[in-house]
Amino acid sequence: MTVFAPPPQMIPDSWLTRREGTVYAEEVPLAVVAGAIGTPFYAYSALALRSNYAALEQVLSPLGVSICFAVKANSNVNVLAEFAALGCGMDIVSGGEMARALAAGTPPGRIIFSGVGKTRPEITAALRAGLHQINVESAAELEAVAAAARDLGLRAPVVLRVNPDVDAKTHAKITTARRDSKFGIAATDVPGLYAAGATRPELEMLGLAVHIGSQVLDLAPFRQAWAALAQMVRGLRAAGHSVARLDLGGGLGIGDADHPGPDLVGYARAIRETVGDLDLALTVEPGRWLCGRAGALVTEVVYLKPGAHGDLAIVDAAMNDLMRPALYEARHPVLTLHPPRGAVDAQPCRLVGPICESSDDFGSYQGLGRLAPADLLAFTHAGAYGATMSSTYNSRDLIPEVLVMGERFRVIRARAGIETALRLETPGAWQSIGEGSLSV
Ligand SMILES: *Cc1c(COP(=O)(O)O)cnc(C)c1O
Repeated sequence: MTVFAPPPQMIPDSWLTRREGTVYAEEVPLAVVAGAIGTPFYAYSALALRSNYAALEQVLSPLGVSICFAVKANSNVNVLAEFAALGCGMDIVSGGEMARALAAGTPPGRIIFSGVGKTRPEITAALRAGLHQINVESAAELEAVAAAARDLGLRAPVVLRVNPDVDAKTHAKITTARRDSKFGIAATDVPGLYAAGATRPELEMLGLAVHIGSQVLDLAPFRQAWAALAQMVRGLRAAGHSVARLDLGGGLGIGDADHPGPDLVGYARAIRETVGDLDLALTVEPGRWLCGRAGALVTEVVYLKPGAHGDLAIVDAAMNDLMRPALYEARHPVLTLHPPRGAVDAQPCRLVGPICESSDDFGSYQGLGRLAPADLLAFTHAGAYGATMSSTYNSRDLIPEVLVMGERFRVIRARAGIETALRLETPGAWQSIGEGSLSV
């Protein structure tokens, strides 16, 4: 059994501070929010979202690199609006995410459509909206984009996503650029497909894209992938093609006590040294890095019970609220909202949720002190791939999301409630087949 042991009660982010015996999110005690809306809930810091964007922009804008936030990391329209207001573009992977990006005020010309399985209606909607670019992942999809553009009498702005066969050295479930991955077009097929696309009047072939995976902590795989793309750009140009854009993907990881994340200056230097001299419009698509550390999941201890290797604390948050531990073996540093009691390094405590699955287990944590029912805890680094991956498994509500700004907070996603879920399950009329078109 692995025990996650950060320095005891390390406060990992500057927007969270321990003061007067409790934990503040900016200037708002998280226990006050818990008292007002109940647990569990997600809290995000507007200050942290903004300062993350500002830090990345500061190192990338001198290189002319534009930033598109990967909406799937946190798609709350109010979070998107924070980024959109700063001039950030969006990287989307579905029609639903397009609607959210537009609703947040992102200009269509700042939106990139990624994803391996875009449907024809999604492609049509993207072309109608006038998105900046469609990142195509197969010959079949290129045909679908061409057909949709022809029907609309438009020219589709296309970039080909390359699979560079690079190991991002991250968790297997978030590695996306090995040869056997479902993502991207094999490097050997790219020149032929680019040339084929360039002959089609309904397609505007603009360049290449890559995305090697997520939570990448080492810069070497980025360099390897971008260098491979630079080589491909030179090859395409030598063959007489125009290549104007390069989309460098997301994946920039967040470090922890054991593994520091890549530093931004090194990240920018890797971009400059691999693709900086090609006169290309460059874009990155970070998701996790911009919002992961800006969020926490606040939960309450329901029961304690003895386990084979120390105490179990059963909390009211579960794998349906925060799936990353179950899916990726992720560990989220935990804070008690009260000053820890007793010897903090006595015994690890295993935090589990109430769901009827053994994988509903957040792992064992050292340094929490003696816990008691009704204690409040915060899983930190929960602002990315937390709320967006949540489900209603076990008929649990999707939990509220709260945005904190200075001394104020507001709910930015209300609890849906079981009544709403039951209403959607009101049966429709029985439909007989063979009597004309069916509608459900
Ligand atoms: C998920 C994804 C991203 C963002 O990944 P992060 O690890 O959150 O930065 C960027 N681009 C594409 C194509 C993606 O699928």
